[in-house]
Amino acid sequence: MNYQRSSALFKEAEQYIPGGVNSPVRAFKAVGGTPIFAKRAQGAYVYDEDDNRYIDYINSWGPMILGHAFKPVVDAVINRTKQGTSFGIPTALETEIAKLAVSMVPNIDKIRFVNSGTEACMSAVRLARGFTKKDKIIKFAGCYHGHSDAFLIQAGSGAVTFGSPNSPGVTKGTAKDTLLANYNAIDSVKSLLAANKDEIACVIIEPVAGNMGCIPPKANFLKDLRMLCDTHNIVLIFDEVMTGFRLAKGGAQELFNVNADIVCFGKVIGGGLPVGAFAARHDIMNCLAPLGPVYQAGTLSGNPLAMAAGLEMLKALNSDQAIFNRLEEKTKYLHKGIEKVLRNHAITHTINRLGSMISVHFAEDEVVDFETAALGNNDRFKQFFHGMLNEGIYIAPSAFETWFISDALTYEDLDFTIAAVKNVVKRL
Ligand code: PMP
Repeated sequence: MNYQRSSALFKEAEQYIPGGVNSPVRAFKAVGGTPIFAKRAQGAYVYDEDDNRYIDYINSWGPMILGHAFKPVVDAVINRTKQGTSFGIPTALETEIAKLAVSMVPNIDKIRFVNSGTEACMSAVRLARGFTKKDKIIKFAGCYHGHSDAFLIQAGSGAVTFGSPNSPGVTKGTAKDTLLANYNAIDSVKSLLAANKDEIACVIIEPVAGNMGCIPPKANFLKDLRMLCDTHNIVLIFDEVMTGFRLAKGGAQELFNVNADIVCFGKVIGGGLPVGAFAARHDIMNCLAPLGPVYQAGTLSGNPLAMAAGLEMLKALNSDQAIFNRLEEKTKYLHKGIEKVLRNHAITHTINRLGSMISVHFAEDEVVDFETAALGNNDRFKQFFHGMLNEGIYIAPSAFETWFISDALTYEDLDFTIAAVKNVVKRL
């Protein structure tokens, strides 16, 4: 592959944008080399500035669940644009998407739209604190809930990729209110509860972790967490920024039959435009301004283009249950195919998969939490990543990320990918 134009564009970008990128993992720093620059994308494919084609397993880090440039979304955005791009005045469209989201997701009565997953999680925690009148929060090592201060404590995703899970700039005062538990280890939560009696406002969790690679919850882990939160009068927040409208219409709550008190959304809910949202029962949501004292706002929140895109995406997902079955089948097919190749070549690996989230950990043992995820062979991952890129397959440029399967992928694409793995693995 020739990456000439991308390399030149990156050099230029580096002069004006820190690291040449507007979000760190894009820079390829963790895997070495220079990032590709995207020119356009259609369906399962993304094309770079050198006109190389890649089968895309990032899908904008999750939103493009039905493939790139999904026609109903594109058409809706074009049509809305002609009527004005932002008003700062309520629109009928906001109620339409809110109504649909509330009907699809279990256990929520009201939803507020924001502009990113970060905002959604940050606001959800403030709401939980306001509702319970308690200060401390529990998060899990390796989970990522966006870049707001309270979450940059043993954070996953780019934070861990770049070795700053605890970022400078987060004050000790903020850090002391964020307590850390271990994913899939209910006893670690129990210990924190015992040591901080009546002080915990909320527990926030990725119901399926996706920011230390994909790590599904063990059987009963989420149910046990629900029970603990009930016993101690703690708000349970599901960060469904990745899993919402992806694992099922109603996300992880539906899939695992566990209710959260507050649910955060991002990615799919915006159809590829900058959207986040958080939602809960009436009694919790009514604490928010202007009804209640917990403040939260946004100049561009509920933006008509973003709402139009999100609405078409949710409508499409709501209209056809078969999409979720197909996504699961495709992901399973890829899993089996890659596993066979890695096994035949005696490559140490663990593949984690749930619904349309999957990741290949080059780790010997089961990967169930941050500690076991960090044991993966990172040098091998780097070689694998570049090998795959060269074969025309775009996976996330970090071992601490999940691959997102889109419904635009055909079985031909999946076979092409498995054949690419074979070519790459031969050279490892
Ligand atoms: N929560 C989770 C689970 C995420 O994966 C992410 C982003 N990858 C976020 C929150 C933050 O979302 P955003 O990047 O839109 O701010």
